[in-house]
Amino acid sequence: MPMITKTVKIDENNIDEALIKEAGEIIKRGGLVAFPTETVYGLGGDALNPESSKKIYAAKGRPSDNPLIVHIYRIEDLYEIVEEVSDNAKKVMDAFWPGPLTMIFKKKDKVPFETTGGLDTVAVRFPIHPTAMAFIEASGGFVAAPSANISGRPSPTLAKYVCEDLDGRVDMIIDGGNIPIGLESTIVDMTGEKPMILRPGFVSREMLEEVLGEVCVDPTILDANSTERPKAPGMRYRHYAPKADMIIVRGDSDRVVAKIKEMGQNKECTVLCVSEHVNEFAGMKVKDVGSEKDYNEIAASLYRVLRECDDENTALILSESFSDKGIGAAVMNRLIKAAGHKIIDV
Ligand code: AMP
Ligand code: MG
Repeated sequence: MPMITKTVKIDENNIDEALIKEAGEIIKRGGLVAFPTETVYGLGGDALNPESSKKIYAAKGRPSDNPLIVHIYRIEDLYEIVEEVSDNAKKVMDAFWPGPLTMIFKKKDKVPFETTGGLDTVAVRFPIHPTAMAFIEASGGFVAAPSANISGRPSPTLAKYVCEDLDGRVDMIIDGGNIPIGLESTIVDMTGEKPMILRPGFVSREMLEEVLGEVCVDPTILDANSTERPKAPGMRYRHYAPKADMIIVRGDSDRVVAKIKEMGQNKECTVLCVSEHVNEFAGMKVKDVGSEKDYNEIAASLYRVLRECDDENTALILSESFSDKGIGAAVMNRLIKAAGHKIIDV
């Protein structure tokens, strides 16, 4: 039975306390609320209530072995839900919390297996978005939240996309306007001998290495041909996918432009490219993902552009490939998954 979804606007610079309280009450009684964070919109439920986590999986159509991230609003609450916080984890917390970074720890018993997809570890994040922080506090302090999209669709960076996917499936949607980062958090596993990045994000490997020394990266992340299983269960599924067929063309930029022009000739298609190349594709349908000088801009627009292609019923997307340095690693990771690993090297 579809439910009535209440949509409210909350300005992060002038938070409506009554609305936040109402949202928190929904979570405390086992309901679901979609809310803005600095990375993407999240679909929140009470992380310590197994029934809430089951509802999250049902609302998204998400496989139940794909664990949720638990969001907190103050450091001390971490110790309520995890067994051990290593010195390395403390260094990462000092440097990047609150912020767009998730760490994996051994879980305490009070975190239900429904929230961790059956694992004895738990992913924890302390976001910096003011509305998210106020909402988590009002909800009792522990909000399980995956991205607020139907499983397999691009993560939402605007409330209208949350409504498109989740209207009638959640109790409330908090519209917090535009999302600053636009890609999901970096995930770092702190349970092994060395910290390991399981999902690249805004906090890059380079940034983590400044704090920790050497950091490993799950080898399956960028390698399309890897036969190993990704360590983050969620990275196993086809994610972030637009409805269109999508192909990435990779290589020297002149050759990439020439190849895309050739492939797109006399075809209905949309080209994704950096601002600097828009004029090269005269006569073709083009989406500007942002300047090659500012990868943050590209990260922030990627999911919106993929959703726009869906809205326009695009059948074929031809995308340039981008640098994989810094946040570019996260952009390329999402782009490659969106394309279902279809890459042409030129
Ligand atoms: P999403 O919330 O949609 O950003 O997805 C959360 C991501 O965190 C998924 O890729 C999960 O597989 C990953 N994740 C959550 N908990 C764990 C965990 N305990 N161990 C490894 N990966 C996790
Ligand atoms: Mg997601």
